[in-house]
Amino acid sequence: MHTNTDRPAAALTPQIHGLLDPDDWDELRQLGHRMVDDVMSDLSTVRDRPAWRPVPEDVRAAFRTPAPETGVGPAQAYDDFRDLVLPYPLGNTHPRFWGWVIGTGTPYGALAEMLAAAFNPNVSGLRTAAVHVEEQVIAWMKELLHFDEKAEGLLLSGGSMANTLGLAVAVQARAEFDVARLGLSRAPHPMVLYASRETHYSVHKAVRLLGLGDESLRLLPVDDQFRLEIPKLEAAIAADRDQGYHPFAVVANAGTVNTGAVDDLATIADVAERENLWMHVDGAFGAFAALDPSVRHLVDGMERADSLAFDLHKWMCVPIECGCLFVRDAESHRRAFTIQADYLTPLPRGTAVDGGRFGNLGPQLSRSFRALKVWLSIKAHGSEAYAAVVRRNVAQAAYLSKLVDVCDELERLAPTLLNVVCFRYVVSGWTDADLDELNREITMRVQEEGIAVPSHTVLEGRFAIRVAITNHRTREDDLDLFVAEVRRIARDLVQRGVIRPSHSGTKPCLQDSGE
Ligand SMILES: *Cc1c(COP(=O)(O)O)cnc(C)c1O
Repeated sequence: MHTNTDRPAAALTPQIHGLLDPDDWDELRQLGHRMVDDVMSDLSTVRDRPAWRPVPEDVRAAFRTPAPETGVGPAQAYDDFRDLVLPYPLGNTHPRFWGWVIGTGTPYGALAEMLAAAFNPNVSGLRTAAVHVEEQVIAWMKELLHFDEKAEGLLLSGGSMANTLGLAVAVQARAEFDVARLGLSRAPHPMVLYASRETHYSVHKAVRLLGLGDESLRLLPVDDQFRLEIPKLEAAIAADRDQGYHPFAVVANAGTVNTGAVDDLATIADVAERENLWMHVDGAFGAFAALDPSVRHLVDGMERADSLAFDLHKWMCVPIECGCLFVRDAESHRRAFTIQADYLTPLPRGTAVDGGRFGNLGPQLSRSFRALKVWLSIKAHGSEAYAAVVRRNVAQAAYLSKLVDVCDELERLAPTLLNVVCFRYVVSGWTDADLDELNREITMRVQEEGIAVPSHTVLEGRFAIRVAITNHRTREDDLDLFVAEVRRIARDLVQRGVIRPSHSGTKPCLQDSGE
């Protein structure tokens, strides 16, 4: 072994800032204990705080300072976190956060993140127990979602990456030429794929990233339940073949982002089989409908997908980031990303037995130990606890829909099948444009007053207040409060003339800018 015995020991351990291990481990241990105490106090009282609040300008200014040359030490840096970061959350740990589709995380998941960082493996496939943790997590997920146990899979940053990689495998598996060698520009027939117009924009981004081009993505109409119209799919495939295109894939939705709609997966699987298309399912949150007997039938056929993308950081409440991709034909998956590299060839024994197994399933080589938070959480809470979250959130969406439906002032704008409710406040005699303006203002005020965080969307051209419940902390009385507050804010805006209908002479707009 090589040692620097010729140098004085003092020179190797200088008492200057710059060594990254603590001089006093006990001091850091105590700070760590304080951090854990603070985290638990904070999470256990999240309900008592506003759901959201803006970051004030003086706080934002504190983020514009240059990188310090000399450190202030761990304790003082942590004080900055407590002063500048902690008070201004997005709100997704709060019981009344229902915006976009964002999970809450869990207290235990936070501890698991710390363990993963401390253990700090690179889960590329080199020999470490971390690889087995990820393999087991993937096996458990296949079990819970009734997916083929022979499928290949890996954990990713989220659903966007899972959609992208699923389609990357699809391109290679279904190209009619050697696309890996020649590239898409040499395609004898331009490759095209299909999805409903309700499909998440990550699929659109994937199409760009893969070099397919926007026009290759045929966005098709939906029915009154916001599901892909299958006759339109069949007609589009036939028309494209006639015109010399090569249809290679269809993306089906298990839970659309706008309304939670689930396409008819079994029938789409039939079409895909008949037409030799790769079927990719975006089940970012909706795949977990499989855990709730009351809605499980909606995702029948999901197990027939060639690839399935879903998120663990949404409905499974695992801290962000964590998504997952399954590819039913394991060989296609490996072929898509395996490139020979001298520095990663397997050796018969030692650390490199598998080369870089996970590194050969996607673009990333260095990979975080995100599997640990899933593994520990499922061990700690049991899959039944997660099924209960799904069941409860689905029931809560039905409950909120009922609150909306029985109220004359509110109008639902989409069917509620899963966990998403879209509605608006209505005033008789007001045009859609007037109501858009009113509901936009309601949405912003509900957030700014810290009451709740719904998000918004546009359905059939109408602005909708959108509630997507993937929140294990939500209670029914949170939904009661939310509806009452929406009505209070709306009445106030209308009565004070803050928002006026267009026929009253002025364009609908904010009148008292003092607020
Ligand atoms: C959230 C979501 C995505 C994107 O997933 P990320 O984890 O945010 O990358 C894709 N599709 C649907 C339906 C989603 O809800």
